[in-house]
Amino acid sequence: MGDAARTTDVEKLSTPLQFLKGVGPQRAELLVRLDLHTVRDLLFFFPREYEDVSQLCTIDELREGQPASIRGEVEEVDFRETGPGRCTLGLLLRQGQDHLRAIWFNQPFLQRRFYRGQQLLLSGVPRRKGLRWELAHPKVTVLEGHEAAPSGGILPVYPLTEGIKQYRMRVLVQGAVSGYAQFLPEVFPDWFLDRHRLWPIRVALPQIHQPQDRDSLQQARRRFVYQELLVLQLALALKKRQQAVQARAPSLPADSRIDARIRRRFPFEMTAGQNQAIAEVAADMAGQVPMNRLLQGDVGSGKTAVAVYAMLLAVAHQHQAALMCPTEVLAHQHYHTLINLLGNSQVRIGLLTGSLTPAQRTAMLDQIREGQLDLVVGTQAVLQSAVQFHRLGLVVADEQHKFGVRQRATLRGSVGDPHSLVMTATPIPRTIAMTLFGDLDVSTLRDSPPGRQPVHTYLGDDAQRESWWTFFRQKLREGRQGYVIAPLVDESEMPDVSSAEQAFETLVNGQLHEFRLDLVHGRMGTEEKKSVMASFREGRTQVLVATSVVEVGVDVPNATVMTIENGERFGLAQLHQLRGRVSRGNHPGYVCVFADASSQTSRRRLEILAATTDGFQLAEADLELRGPGELFGTRQHGVPPLMIADLLRDSALLEEARASAQALVAMDAELADPSLARLRRMVLARYGSTLELGQVG
Ligand code: ADP
Ligand code: MG
Repeated sequence: MGDAARTTDVEKLSTPLQFLKGVGPQRAELLVRLDLHTVRDLLFFFPREYEDVSQLCTIDELREGQPASIRGEVEEVDFRETGPGRCTLGLLLRQGQDHLRAIWFNQPFLQRRFYRGQQLLLSGVPRRKGLRWELAHPKVTVLEGHEAAPSGGILPVYPLTEGIKQYRMRVLVQGAVSGYAQFLPEVFPDWFLDRHRLWPIRVALPQIHQPQDRDSLQQARRRFVYQELLVLQLALALKKRQQAVQARAPSLPADSRIDARIRRRFPFEMTAGQNQAIAEVAADMAGQVPMNRLLQGDVGSGKTAVAVYAMLLAVAHQHQAALMCPTEVLAHQHYHTLINLLGNSQVRIGLLTGSLTPAQRTAMLDQIREGQLDLVVGTQAVLQSAVQFHRLGLVVADEQHKFGVRQRATLRGSVGDPHSLVMTATPIPRTIAMTLFGDLDVSTLRDSPPGRQPVHTYLGDDAQRESWWTFFRQKLREGRQGYVIAPLVDESEMPDVSSAEQAFETLVNGQLHEFRLDLVHGRMGTEEKKSVMASFREGRTQVLVATSVVEVGVDVPNATVMTIENGERFGLAQLHQLRGRVSRGNHPGYVCVFADASSQTSRRRLEILAATTDGFQLAEADLELRGPGELFGTRQHGVPPLMIADLLRDSALLEEARASAQALVAMDAELADPSLARLRRMVLARYGSTLELGQVG
């Protein structure tokens, strides 16, 4: 067979759906709503789940209370109104000579679903009622007359759109599979299939739609998951290579003289973890490939010191460094940290935030452009807009958990080709890091500075309020400071949720009336916020009542007690961040979370919070609890969503795909080998524009 024949095969797959048997123009229009246009689309329209009907049995095999699935034909439909708004719907299902009754209460809309002669599969728990078996509220699968009995006992369940029922969709997909699956071109070369024990596509595709049994389904699924993850990992590997080839950053090495000079600035010895991270950062910055590194470490693990080291390394080579913060509060705090560390040095530091007057802003922009400032701290919004640097060598972004491929691209583009270091205290589970940040290197601080005290976390209920506040007051009398965290909502909006303002009023006049309290929340003006934070930092305020604005980075070591109200309204990562505020000094921290934990999930979340202080464990647990979609939605990172792979379930396969993607790219940097042509095209089609892979191949 020559090329011509192959082209024809591929063309066949592009047949518009309206020409597929059983579709026609009208259904074709409905299918468009599911983004299904051609036969190929339908072939790759994977089931969303499967119904296991392998427990299929006959009526005389039924056992009281044993779940079962029964197949039969509807003989009678019996609908009765039994009172105002009350009704029963009964079905008599015939299987050979035997009958079984199915019954539903108060679901009038069901009556239109059933008719005499219809083939059904009912699943439920049988009860003996007189002479007959009865299934109350069984699960129903409609088997149209012409649909074959599910041979393997596993039925695909497809996403649907109005006007197309499940059985119809099954018939259509089956038609596409039996008519066209044999034309599907293989993506992988044979040696690759062998090496990774992958089923060929023409074997796998029919099995993903109509699995023979559990094993076949698993093998078929494995093939497609692998393919999807490999394509993603290849894109990331190509991206990384491309950046290494194209980008040019200033080489900023740390020799021993510079290293000693920088370290002298710190009033403490670096921890082993910090030293390791510094070594990794310095190695990156010595090269001309821009550093692209994520520094992750739990709250209080000392990420800032690593970042300051990196910034001073840039300055030592007469380059500028920028420190981007998500909030003004944090920008101010970092600015103060830097001033404290470097106040008596030559290093010139600027603070660029939205609260500068236009004149101040213009003056500062001039200084930055002319290279009169070495370090610039600012909010992300301000730094990303129209700041022109003289010689920018490094960009550090602090406390970022919402960033991704695209965002990093714009960040770099806006400022040239500096090195980039991103800090986060929300540990990113390994599977996610590999998926979304495959081209990012990671340094992790697993230890914390010496003398760091533990945080004790309690889940409080109303009965314990009195004793908690007694304890809280006692800590204040010992000279410590405290936080009270509450969600920011108007009282009228949600009567059961205490807003920060309301909590403040209550405490000033009640539990904490003898102490100096202040209030901070996101709706306050910048100046006001700044002065509130300053007076808390300096110890003039004893208790800060706040919303989660203090979640990120606020560093007041003398604060050791925290009350969190309505804990159920905060995410697990957020709660962990919040409690990190009270473990920053030499005294142990105490947190009490009051919560309406009526929901299972929020109860579970809070229990995990109380049980561990390891941020990495928490992140993994949160991922399991909420699923990766919610936590790190791939969409928000600008990466097309995964169709079949599941980052939690398929993490082993992800590792495998990543390793083989790296091996492939190491062997053939452009994927130029003809046997990889199809794979390469697939990578470009899916990720080419998102990752700007244009130049590859
Ligand atoms: P985070 O990782 O949360 O950003 P920081 O960098 O703010 O943590 O550090 C938390 C506190 O620990 C700061 O007060 C900082 O001065 C202090 N610190 C950092 N590194 C060390 C160290 N090696 N030894 C002692 N204290 C340290
Ligand atoms: Mg920090």
